[in-house]
Amino acid sequence: LVGFSSIPGNDEAKGEKKDKKNKKSGFLSMGLSEKTLKAIHKRGYKIPTAIQRKTIPIIMENRDVVAMAKTGSGKTACFLIPLFEKLKQRSSKSAGARALVLTPTRELAIQTFKFMKDLGKFHDLKTVLVLGGDSMDSQFSAIHDNPDVIVATPGRFLHICMEMDLKLHAIEYVVFDESDRLFEMGFSQQINETIRRLPDSRQTVMFSATLPSCLVDFAKAGLTDPVLVRLDVDT
Ligand code: ADP
Ligand code: MG
Repeated sequence: LVGFSSIPGNDEAKGEKKDKKNKKSGFLSMGLSEKTLKAIHKRGYKIPTAIQRKTIPIIMENRDVVAMAKTGSGKTACFLIPLFEKLKQRSSKSAGARALVLTPTRELAIQTFKFMKDLGKFHDLKTVLVLGGDSMDSQFSAIHDNPDVIVATPGRFLHICMEMDLKLHAIEYVVFDESDRLFEMGFSQQINETIRRLPDSRQTVMFSATLPSCLVDFAKAGLTDPVLVRLDVDT
């Protein structure tokens, strides 16, 4: 795809098999903190999935990433593990949220929130959910509590931003999960408006099961020199 940097793909697959039991291709090679490794271990993950192997190191290098892999390939941990490593612990000052995760549905947001609680249980980070359908008042007070991470659906998030005149200057890491569905569900306007409010210095990562052309256009506009990681076939 024009406009994307790419990383080596299937040509490394042969060597990978041999390495599977080897620490070199595992979570231990990724330079993760003890806290993260412990949570990964507790969750029972022995080796990273293909998309995890390919995206986590790039995201840790602060690159913008567009990652495409089928449902069930382990994409949530791809963006959560680097999130913990970047944010590390609760900021002492009331500096504002530092990470934003946007998902197309309430259900997915809740699932991601729980995943984050589990995989991030040894990190002292405060995460809030901002979902359409919940009371705005409770979301106002949750945000006043200075969370480190906001997991939200796009419509309600933008609404809250406008109502509270919420400053997003401290946001350094933005995730669009299930990006294809975000656009299918008609959130493109809210997403573009949200992007406009985010600092240019942010890192942005996009995860998707498919890569329709609207998403490619969005990635080119909303991400900075993104690396495309594409696993069309199971590896
Ligand atoms: P996707 O977002 O690609 O659909 P998920 O992040 O929801 O996939 O993960 C699918 C399932 O795989 C979840 O139950 C998750 O806990 C599990 N999983 C993720 N990574 C690993 C791993 N490295 N080893 C074992 N199971 C994993
Ligand atoms: Mg997913």
